Amino acid sequence: MAPLRSKPNYRRCLSCRRIDHRSSFWRIVRSYPSRKVQLEGTGRSAYLCPQAECLAVARRKDRLGRALKVPVPDEIYQILQQRLGTLPSTAKPGFHQVDQGRTGEGLL
Ligand SMILES: [Zn+2]
Repeated sequence: MAPLRSKPNYRRCLSCRRIDHRSSFWRIVRSYPSRKVQLEGTGRSAYLCPQAECLAVARRKDRLGRALKVPVPDEIYQILQQRLGTLPSTAKPGFHQVDQGRTGEGLL
């Protein structure tokens, strides 16, 4: 039996400190040796939940900049913000209303 305490693929979110598998986080990397902040590659890494709240906290309190020890360009936050918009996690609340509306039309 493998010891439960060794979880090499688990990471912690910079903002809410939630621990989860690395694949469920965004990874932000300060690449080496250029010290350029980017979202892929090798270097010093920081992890963030793919959630609006965690992104907002990381930006407001400069959690990313502190973790990576370099200023984080606005561009990085903009890219992450865009990724938020494309996440399929939030169901569309209007869906059932549209369905009901169609039924009502039929009764008229
Ligand atoms: Zn988080």
